[in-house]
Amino acid sequence: MTLPSSLRLPPLPTVKDLIKLYRLRALKQLSQNFLLDERITDKIVRAAGNIRNHYVLEVGPGPGSITRSILKKLPNKLILVEKDPRFLPTLQILQEASQDHLNVDIEIGDIRSYNFDKGLKDVKVSNWFEAPPPIHLIGNLPFSVSTILIIEWLHALSEKRAAWKYGRTPMTLTFQKEVAERIVAPAGHKQRCRLSVICQMWCDVENQFLIPGKAFIPKPEVDVGVVTLKPWKYPRTDLPFKMVEKILRNMFNMRQKYSFKGASRLFPEEVRDELVMRMFYLAELDREIRPFQITNDEFCRLFHAYKVISDDHPEILTYDSRAPKKSVN
Ligand code: SAM
Repeated sequence: MTLPSSLRLPPLPTVKDLIKLYRLRALKQLSQNFLLDERITDKIVRAAGNIRNHYVLEVGPGPGSITRSILKKLPNKLILVEKDPRFLPTLQILQEASQDHLNVDIEIGDIRSYNFDKGLKDVKVSNWFEAPPPIHLIGNLPFSVSTILIIEWLHALSEKRAAWKYGRTPMTLTFQKEVAERIVAPAGHKQRCRLSVICQMWCDVENQFLIPGKAFIPKPEVDVGVVTLKPWKYPRTDLPFKMVEKILRNMFNMRQKYSFKGASRLFPEEVRDELVMRMFYLAELDREIRPFQITNDEFCRLFHAYKVISDDHPEILTYDSRAPKKSVN
């Protein structure tokens, strides 16, 4: 039997009708904004690339508009992780409508505690250096959640855990326009920040297109960017995620100041001047450059220099300049 090139769902009530029928008022406290324009949801799914016969995990499907666009592309399996149980009936309608063609798993719960092995256990683990596994993560999440989630996912990716145990699983996610710009910002860009460097260390990032705020119901204050993140075969750094994050946090805390100012906070006061000088010397970088002007390669040199210094002074690894000082009696 040859499979159809795309799935034609049986006639279904529109998402707009279902929202009315089940009285699915968007909840402000969950920052819910729904996309009802099929051309836009199709475009988001197209940005994810070829998903036919693949495993797709959609985070925050809500009433299911993006879900419908995913189903049309005939994945092998669709896993829906939605925190708000009010959406269960509308998602079950889609589950039933597509049951002859594919499995749709519905998980009511928080994506941050989702166990990927549950939904992906049938996927063959791909070698990291070969083609990416047939898995895609897609989602239009609340902005507050998507930024926390991307940091947690990059951490998992750097350790080849969760969805990245299976290989270089790509992500297609929406972010507030400014956050999308930050994720892809190169050195020198006004939006360059910690998030830019952290994302670019581990992923090839692309800001695919903009969705105007007016396409959402209710309309959010801001426009939205659709970003794809594809894990690098060879991450730009091989240092631990937490170490990289700590260096960037200290440096970007003083974004407009000379870089050595923020970097000096990585070291205890008594050795601060000496070690920060050494860090920039080893990295062969002008210590007066501003953090947002530093390229990814230069950051890698700084990370490496910090690692070399920490090998000589392991006590700096646990040093936190913001920790309350112990009183000396
Ligand atoms: N994807 C739908 C759309 O585009 O119309 C809904 C988007 S709405 C901005 C975000 C959805 O994510 C909501 O349905 C919300 O309940 C869900 N959500 C929020 N936090 C979540 C979490 N931590 N885990 C899973 N779903 C979450």
